[in-house]
Amino acid sequence: MRGKTFIISGPSGVGKSTVLQALLERRKDLYFSVSATTRPCRPGETDGVHYHFLDVDTFRAWIAKNEFLEYAEYVGNFYGTPKRYVDEAMDQGRDVILDIEVQGAIQVTGQRPETVTIFIAPPSWTELERRLTERGTDSAEKIQKRLLRAKVEFQTAHTYDYFVINDTVENAVRELEAILTAEHCKPQERMAIINGQ
Ligand code: ADP
Ligand code: 5GP
Repeated sequence: MRGKTFIISGPSGVGKSTVLQALLERRKDLYFSVSATTRPCRPGETDGVHYHFLDVDTFRAWIAKNEFLEYAEYVGNFYGTPKRYVDEAMDQGRDVILDIEVQGAIQVTGQRPETVTIFIAPPSWTELERRLTERGTDSAEKIQKRLLRAKVEFQTAHTYDYFVINDTVENAVRELEAILTAEHCKPQERMAIINGQ
């Protein structure tokens, strides 16, 4: 059985990376799609693990070679999902998680409507600003840009299949696990198993 693709979108600083790390520790079978980006590497990030850090020319070359399932510009940098690894993991029967912003999500669901989309929101805007500030990786100006972008992205949240509030990491991970499980309980998939397809 081919794996499914799950998109996680949500404001910068809401805790997507934190929650996904905890989820991946519990569900070792999941494949996290490592994106390419032109943004600088943050302290604590490793090339090839958190992102493939590329310069703009190399990113453009990957676009020209049709390497991306989707790509988008976000607050002054490019981000994109390399297609090959996603398809390889799905062919191996693994579920794939994409941590991508809203424009990328629209591109992927346009090509692959069966993709499951999940929006992660903070418990409040004040808490989002606190998390962005406490993370300490962005200048005050970048934080304001990310907050503005977050409010625009929030307007699209109703188009997602699921909505998770990251109040505590534990709650958010539990809900994500429930979503993954539910998506594998659809009649089409279960009947195919029984029919040996
Ligand atoms: P994102 O990947 O969405 O940009 P991060 O995972 O980098 O966000 O989290 C941003 C900051 O918020 C980090 O400092 C992280 O430790 C903190 N954080 C994440 N989830 C929670 C939570 N549920 N409660 C409190 N702080 C959190
Ligand atoms: P950050 O710079 O905080 O790591 O990520 C900024 C935003 O880019 C987040 O909303 C994240 O989901 C998004 N992002 C990360 N990788 C990709 C990608 O491959 N494609 C798209 N479209 N967005 C991405």
